[in-house]
Amino acid sequence: MTKRLILILGFVFIAAAGASAAQFIERELPCPVCGKVFYAKLDLSGSQGEMRLDLKPVGPEAGPWRLPDCPRCGFVIYKLPIPAAELAKCREIAASEEYKKDQARSTYFRVGLIYEKLGKSAFSVANSFLKASWQEEAEAARLKEDQELSLKYFTVCAQACGAEEKENSQLLIGELLRRLGRFEEARAHLAGLRSLKGFQKNFFADIVEYQLSLCSQLDSAPHEMAEVRDFKKPLLEKIKNKLNNILRDLAGLAGYKAGGAPSARKMYSPDLDAQ
Ligand SMILES: [Zn+2]
Repeated sequence: MTKRLILILGFVFIAAAGASAAQFIERELPCPVCGKVFYAKLDLSGSQGEMRLDLKPVGPEAGPWRLPDCPRCGFVIYKLPIPAAELAKCREIAASEEYKKDQARSTYFRVGLIYEKLGKSAFSVANSFLKASWQEEAEAARLKEDQELSLKYFTVCAQACGAEEKENSQLLIGELLRRLGRFEEARAHLAGLRSLKGFQKNFFADIVEYQLSLCSQLDSAPHEMAEVRDFKKPLLEKIKNKLNNILRDLAGLAGYKAGGAPSARKMYSPDLDAQ
């Protein structure tokens, strides 16, 4: 079974095939909560390149998709249109003190708060806080809070979600525990994944092994998916070299049995040329 990482970059407001995710346009939008009309920068959808183990895209301007952030009421427009019943709840949330006190937080942190109040799926809430952690990684206390909230909801999903979301959650729990420096818990969790059907002889299994090696080095830094492929390389190269040696030996043996077919070394030996 092919493993798929569910990467929800954010709500895509405008789709334009072939454009890079780093490209954006400005669009005039009315806030669905307070009616304020403002200009919002919106990403153009594009192909997905490399990413880190926490799914953050790698490269210039890498981050989650921009979300319109109302300058008047602070509501983050997570989708358009918002159904009437949901919008009524959004107005209550945006007006609450609990939401207002976090006006300075990242857009995805506030979407996480909105999603919690709206009772969205644990996987959606977990992903919002995960993306908040990409946006706020320069601020240690906020980063920790984002990662802990994301971990909390991925843990719920690892128990209750469907197969694909469950496996993605299990993988991200390992990443978040490691990033939070909770190495013993990360090691126990990741080691437990080894025996699961979805984590055998596939890319997820490779990620688990790489995460375990990072845990044994007490490494809580962000790392990239590309490193998982490099991590696999030495073993593959060892097998390849071993095969080459066997083939070379077999070829030499065949040559010897056939009555001494010249080896490459002999053919280019200056001593033999001189004779
Ligand atoms: Zn507004």
